[in-house]
Amino acid sequence: MELLRTRTDLARLDGLRGPRPLVLVPTMGALHAGHLSLVEAAARYGPVVVSIFVNPTQFGPGEDYDAYPRDLESDLDLLRPLGPAAVFAPDVATLYGREGGVHVAAGPRARGLCGARRPGHFDGVLTVVLKLFNLIRPDIAVFGRKDGQQCLAIAEMVEDLAVPVRLIDAPTVREPDGLAMSSRNRYLDPDARRRARALWRALQAGREALAEGVATADEIEDRMTLQLADADVVDYAHVLSVPDLERREPGAGRWILAVAAHVGAARLIDNLVLDIGPDGVVEAPLLGE
Ligand code: AMP
Repeated sequence: MELLRTRTDLARLDGLRGPRPLVLVPTMGALHAGHLSLVEAAARYGPVVVSIFVNPTQFGPGEDYDAYPRDLESDLDLLRPLGPAAVFAPDVATLYGREGGVHVAAGPRARGLCGARRPGHFDGVLTVVLKLFNLIRPDIAVFGRKDGQQCLAIAEMVEDLAVPVRLIDAPTVREPDGLAMSSRNRYLDPDARRRARALWRALQAGREALAEGVATADEIEDRMTLQLADADVVDYAHVLSVPDLERREPGAGRWILAVAAHVGAARLIDNLVLDIGPDGVVEAPLLGE
């Protein structure tokens, strides 16, 4: 496992370019089993590069950029047994040479949900992801379905800017009680950790409503919101169409149930992607069939 820190170091990736696709797994570090599942999924396709970079441009004023957990040594220890070919862990100056400069303006899919709550967040995400794509030149990139709007906003960029990479979304890894794994779960004290389960309960309530045939977005969202009573502040609880993230009355097709809430010191997000079709309501990927 090569540790690459600078742009010059990236030349060492050329030895990995061969008949099998080069696969990138972008992360912000503080790795957990969710990240590791992405690396395992990626390794099925070809040699894997994991990037570890806490991207300043996707954090807004007053958000947790400074507090965000950083521990490269323990991240490397977690990755080593999975055998990725390389880890790219640049510093801020390596990715952002100077203040300002050209950045990506995210498209319509980034407008609602977290895009509305965190202005500029997805511009920052797409800017760093495009930099990583251009520096590493992967054939495939794997993202977690857990960040559903992020997956769809990146897919929109890849399509609209004709970026030559194939995207794959990997399923969300959960704690035994349903809480989606997240680096930010470290901010939860025991009381908040218990209350954080509300997000998963809200998603299940939404799924049950769809399975019962409830066909109004208002009623589905009301049932989801009821389950979020344990959260401190609910940012949103929505049912939206996939891939365009529009609010419509649910019927046959692909939908995302998406929730975001502040619980204790953490802002948590989660979602469920569901197909409504002849087989009833079944979990589905966000990208691809
Ligand atoms: P982050 O380090 O939070 O930026 O996440 C890096 C990648 O891991 C993103 O593609 C996330 O969607 C993905 N990810 C984060 N949490 C999970 C999880 N619980 N299960 C699967 N993927 C995840």
